[in-house]
Amino acid sequence: MKVVERKNIKVNYQSVLKEVRHDKNEAVFFNSADKTKETTMPYSVLHVSPPMKTPDFIHSNPGIVDNTGFLSVDKYTLQHTKYPNMYGIGDCTNTPNSKTAAAIAKQCYVLEQNLLATMAKDSPKEKYNGYGACPLVTSYNTCILAEFIYDGVPRETLPFNQARESTIAYYMKRDLFPFLYWNLMLKGYYHGPEFIRRIINPFAKKISGGNLHKLHNPAKQFNGVSKVPIRTEPEWELRSNLVLRSLCPAVGRISDDDDADDR
Ligand SMILES: Cc1cc2nc3c(=O)[nH]c(=O)nc-3n(C[C@H](O)[C@H](O)[C@H](O)COP(=O)(O)OP(=O)(O)OC[C@H]3O[C@@H](n4cnc5c(N)ncnc54)[C@H](O)[C@@H]3O)c2cc1C
Repeated sequence: MKVVERKNIKVNYQSVLKEVRHDKNEAVFFNSADKTKETTMPYSVLHVSPPMKTPDFIHSNPGIVDNTGFLSVDKYTLQHTKYPNMYGIGDCTNTPNSKTAAAIAKQCYVLEQNLLATMAKDSPKEKYNGYGACPLVTSYNTCILAEFIYDGVPRETLPFNQARESTIAYYMKRDLFPFLYWNLMLKGYYHGPEFIRRIINPFAKKISGGNLHKLHNPAKQFNGVSKVPIRTEPEWELRSNLVLRSLCPAVGRISDDDDADDR
């Protein structure tokens, strides 16, 4: 929200695009809480995100989808809720994670292991923890690298507070991630940043879908005021991150409004 305030951005929640009057450069929105309320806004550039849906051949098959038209799978094992010999990954499934390529990298490994188990007539053991990542570019040389698991719980890889804008995150997004996506992930060699976390924090506990509930209580994740999720790494993991952060202070440093309690 600090970035939003600094850039003087007015955020209009619950606004759903209804009509684009391109001849007048106007966009008409209705309020999702009260559909009778409409607002007309002028625009110079309009960036529209269309509502997400699955391809026809998926949502037109009621036996395999839920009532939103997304493939119905177990959110941890990724196995279909009705057909055990069917699995799903990616944007088309109804798992409540952020739909990102980063999530799919992680899901691929779970899929591979569980498919092999099913083919060997065993039950699926590997569990997806809802990991996803969103690099949010905030300027020509800064980015916020948001990483989280189910329920919006932060799951940061780097040894600094990733809720802040960072130059290193910007160059990762610009130069490292395209390489990672095209050369490693699409070829099945990249299963998420867990191995980086292991190098930085060799004693960190692995959070899979199975032990997720032991480490946090989703109901307690929000402070009720700003809806900002609180940190949930075990205390000792937080400490080792702090030590690393003090050893390499330049790594995470960034903008002037940077302060310790901005999450
Ligand atoms: C603008 C934008 C920016 C993004 N930025 C990021 C980012 O920075 N980091 C990140 O991690 N994620 C990002 N994402 C999300 C990421 O791109 C998606 O989560 C990911 O591509 C989903 O992969 P998928 O294979 O599940 O689906 P898709 O990539 O949608 O692949 C589905 C494929 O199925 C094909 N298909 C459809 N119907 C049929 C059919 N009948 N027969 C055969 N093929 C069919 C489609 O043509 C398509 O190629 C971004 C997405 C968008 C739109």
